[in-house]
Amino acid sequence: MFAVHLMAFYFTKLKEDQIKKVDRFLYHMRLSDDTLLDIMARFQAEMQRGLGKDTNPTASVKMLPTFVRAIPDGSEHGEFLSLDLGGSKFRVLKVQVSEEGKRNVQMESQFYPTPNEIIRGNGSELFDYVADCLADFMKTKGLKHKKLPLGLTFSFPCRQTKLEEDIDVDILALVNDTVGTMMTCAYDDPYCEVGVIIGTGTNACYMEDMSNIDLVEGDEGRMCINTEWGAFGDDGALEDIRTEFDRELDLGSLNPGKQLFEKMISGLYVGELVRIILLKMAKVGLLFGGKKSSALHTKGKIETRHVAAMEKYKEGLANTREILTDLGLEPSEADCLSVQQVCTIVSFRSANLCAAALAAILTRLRENKKLVRLRTTVGVDGTLYKIHPQYPKRLHKVVRRLVPNCDVRFLLSESGSTKGAAMVTAVASRVQAQRRQIDKVLALFRLTQEQLKGVQSKMRTELEYGLKKDTHLLATVKMLPTYVCGMPDGTEKGKFLALDLGGTNFRVLLVKIRSGRKSVRMYNKIFAIPLEIMQGTGEELFDHIVQCIADFLDYMGLKGAQLPLGFTFSFPCRQTSIDKGILIEWTKGFKATDCEGEDVVDMLREAIKRRNEFDLDIVAVVNDTVGTMMTCGYEDPNCEIGLIAGTGSNMCYMEEMKNIELVEGDEGKMCINTEWGGFGDNGCIDDIRTQYDRKVDEGSLNPGKQRYEKMTSGMYLGEIVRQILIDLTKQGLLFRGQISERLRTRGIFETKFLSQIESDRLALLQVRRILQQLGLDSTCEDSIVVKEVCGAVSRRAAQLCGAGLAAVVEKRREDQGLEYLKVTVGVDGTLYKLHPHFSRILQETVKELAPRCDVTLMLSEDGSGKGAALITAVAKRLQQAQKEK
Ligand code: ADP
Ligand code: MG
Repeated sequence: MFAVHLMAFYFTKLKEDQIKKVDRFLYHMRLSDDTLLDIMARFQAEMQRGLGKDTNPTASVKMLPTFVRAIPDGSEHGEFLSLDLGGSKFRVLKVQVSEEGKRNVQMESQFYPTPNEIIRGNGSELFDYVADCLADFMKTKGLKHKKLPLGLTFSFPCRQTKLEEDIDVDILALVNDTVGTMMTCAYDDPYCEVGVIIGTGTNACYMEDMSNIDLVEGDEGRMCINTEWGAFGDDGALEDIRTEFDRELDLGSLNPGKQLFEKMISGLYVGELVRIILLKMAKVGLLFGGKKSSALHTKGKIETRHVAAMEKYKEGLANTREILTDLGLEPSEADCLSVQQVCTIVSFRSANLCAAALAAILTRLRENKKLVRLRTTVGVDGTLYKIHPQYPKRLHKVVRRLVPNCDVRFLLSESGSTKGAAMVTAVASRVQAQRRQIDKVLALFRLTQEQLKGVQSKMRTELEYGLKKDTHLLATVKMLPTYVCGMPDGTEKGKFLALDLGGTNFRVLLVKIRSGRKSVRMYNKIFAIPLEIMQGTGEELFDHIVQCIADFLDYMGLKGAQLPLGFTFSFPCRQTSIDKGILIEWTKGFKATDCEGEDVVDMLREAIKRRNEFDLDIVAVVNDTVGTMMTCGYEDPNCEIGLIAGTGSNMCYMEEMKNIELVEGDEGKMCINTEWGGFGDNGCIDDIRTQYDRKVDEGSLNPGKQRYEKMTSGMYLGEIVRQILIDLTKQGLLFRGQISERLRTRGIFETKFLSQIESDRLALLQVRRILQQLGLDSTCEDSIVVKEVCGAVSRRAAQLCGAGLAAVVEKRREDQGLEYLKVTVGVDGTLYKLHPHFSRILQETVKELAPRCDVTLMLSEDGSGKGAALITAVAKRLQQAQKEK
C-alpha cells in the first residue's frame, strides 16, 4: 500500500519537474491572455486594412469577397451537384436538399483521381478533365438529362469576380472550404455567420456588411469574406511572437516567408514544430540523455496525428513511448512526460492563436451590428480540430475568455466543404429564383421611354378634350376655368384672410401684402379636421370651418374686421366666376354629404350666417394649384404653371382664352385647373396600371376614379407599397412568408416612410428599424427588397407626373408657335418637398420628354395660403378698376 502511494508521489513529482523544465524551455510559446488580446487587436487592424481599397494591395490578410451574399434560410430545395477540388482527390457529389418541413440533406458521391499532369497542366485541361468526370458521374447516377445547378469547392485563395461562371451547367458556385463550412452549419443553425478551418491549413470566413467592403460595389446587405488569415504576419506583424522554432520550420518549408500565421497553427505544421523542438532539446541535453536518432532528424517524421495521440488523456503516455520508440529513441519515463508537455504547449499555442483571430472576427461582427452582446454560431471543420482530443475544448474556452460579450456556439460541420458547395449553390439558386420573382413584380413599375411618351401623348389628348365644348363633359381631365386671368403685378396691397382646405388639415391665415417691396407677412393657425367631419354631413363640415375661423379671428384680435377672403379649396370645382365654385365631386379623403353639386362659397356664407357672429367678404375660391402658381408668379413672371404633389396630384396653367371654348371671349389668358388626377378614368392608361393599383383603387373611397392621382400622390404611394409587400409575402419572398396583422392594416405604410426608407443616408439597419416600428419583423434581405419596392413605386410616380407635365409644356410651346419655351412651374406638396428622389426624377423625365422646353421647377412657399391672398388681392384690384371705369 505504502509503496503504491510512494510510487504515485514519485510520479507526480517527476511530472511536475518535467513540466517545469519544458515550460521554462518553451516560455516564449506560452501566450498570456494579455498577449492574445494584443494579437486580437492586431488582427482587427489587419482585417480593416484588407477591406480598404487603398490598403488592400499591401495588406497581408487579403479579405477576399466571395460574392456569397446570403446564408440558407431553410427554404432551399432541389438537387445540386457539387465538386470538391481539394488536395490529391477530386470528388463529385449529388446533394438532395429537401424541404418537407424539416431540414434534410442527402448525398451521393464518387471520388476521381486527379492525375498530377492535370493538376500541373493548364486551366483548360483541368476543366476538360473535370467536365469528363462530371459527365461520367451524371451517367452512372442517371442524371444525364437533368440540368442541375452546380457548386465547386476550391480550397485555394481565389479572387472571385462573380459567383457564377458557365461551363454548360446551370450555376457554378466557386466556394472556398471555409465558406462551405459556414454554409453547411448555417443550414442547421441560422445564427451561423462564421466558418473556420483548422485542418491541413487554417482559414476563416464571416459575413461582413457590404458597406465595409470597398472592393465590391454596392452598400446593401452582407457578403461573406474569405479572410485568408493564414497569411497574417507575412508583413512582420507577428515577429515578436514567432520563435526560433517557427523560423526554422518556415525556412524548411515550400513557401518560406509565407503563411506565417498558418505555420503556427495548422495540422501540416504542428507535428513538425514538435519534432524541431524535441531535436533541439535533445541537442542541449534536455531529452533522451542527449541522444538523437536519424528519424528525429528527418523532416515530417512527427505528424499531427502523433501529437493528438500523445495528448490523449489515458493512453497518451503509452502512445508517447511507442511513438518515440518508433522514431528510434529510447525514452525514459521523464522523457515521455516532457514530450507530452511539448505537444501540449505547441497545440495549445495553435488553439490560442486561432482563438485570438476568431475573437477579432467576433468583435467585428458585434460592432457591425452595434450590439452590446452578440449571439452567434461558428461553423468549424478540419482534422486538427476534429481528431485532437483537447483542441476544441481549449479553443472554445479561450475564445469565450477573450470576448466575454459574445455568446458563441461552435458547430462541427459534417463533411463541410463539399456539402457546403452544394449549400452555396442551393442558396444561390434559391436567391436567384426569388430574385426572378421579385424582379417580375418590380418590372411592372418600370416604364419604358415609349410608355412614358404614350402617357404624355394621351395626357395631351385629354387636355384638348377637356377644353372643347363637344368633348368637355366626357373628358376625364376636366380642364376647369378658374376665372383667374391676371397675375400679380406687384401693386397689390392690404390685409387678407385666406382659408386652406386641402388634404387633411385646415388652415386659416392672415396675409399682409405690402406693395412696392413685394413683401408678404403671414400669420396662420392649423386646425385638424376629424375624420367624422370629413365624412359627415356638409353642414357639419362648414360649421366646423366657420368655428375655426372664429377661433382664429379671436386669437388674432380681429373679431369685427371685415376682411376680403380667399378660399383655397383643393377639390374639383366648376366655376362660373372667381367667387363661385360648384364642387363636382370629392377626392382624396373627403366624403361629406350634400356638398357635391353645391357652391362651396354659398355653403361657407350660409355657415357664417348660421353662426351669426361676423361677416366676411368672400372674394375668390381658389384651387391650391392656382395659389401655388400665383405665389411663384409673384416672384417670377415666367411662372405660368402650378403643380401639386401632396396628398393628391393636380396641375393648373395659363391657357389662351381662344382655346377655352367654355368661356366667352378670346382675349388674353385664363388659368385652367386641369384636375388631371382623373386622367385615365376612361381606362386609357389601364395598360400600365398593375394589379396593385387596382387593389388600392378598390379599397379607396372613390373606386374607379382619379386613377392617375392614385398612381402619383402621397395618399396612395404607401398603399401601393403595402399591396406589393402583401403579395411578395404571399409568394414567400418576404417576411418569411408570414403576413402579419399590421401588414393587413390599411394605411399603416404612410408615404413618409417611403421618404425615410429611400433616403440615401440611411443604412440598412435603420430601414430595418423603421420596418420594425411598423410591426414588420424584417431580415436584412427583407429590408433590401422593401427599399427596392419603395423606390420602384416612387420612381414611377415621379415619372408619370413628369410625363403629364411634359404634355402641358409642349402644348404651351406649340400653341405659342415657339421653337423653344422657357417656363417656370410653381410646385408645392409634401411628397415633392420631402421625398429624396421625387423632384429629381420628375425633372429628368420632363427634360427627356420635352427637350425643347426649358422648365424650371420653383418651390412655392406656402402657395395655398399666400396664393389665395394674392388672388384675392388681384381680384380686388380688378374689381376696383372695373368700378372706376
Ligand atoms: P395637402 O396635399 O393635403 O395639401 P401636403 O402637401 O402637405 O398637403 O401633402 C400631405 C401628404 O404628403 C400626406 O398625405 C402624405 O401622403 C404625404 N407626406 C407626408 N410626409 C411625407 C414625406 N416625408 N415624404 C413624402 N410624402 C409625405
Ligand atoms: Mg396643400
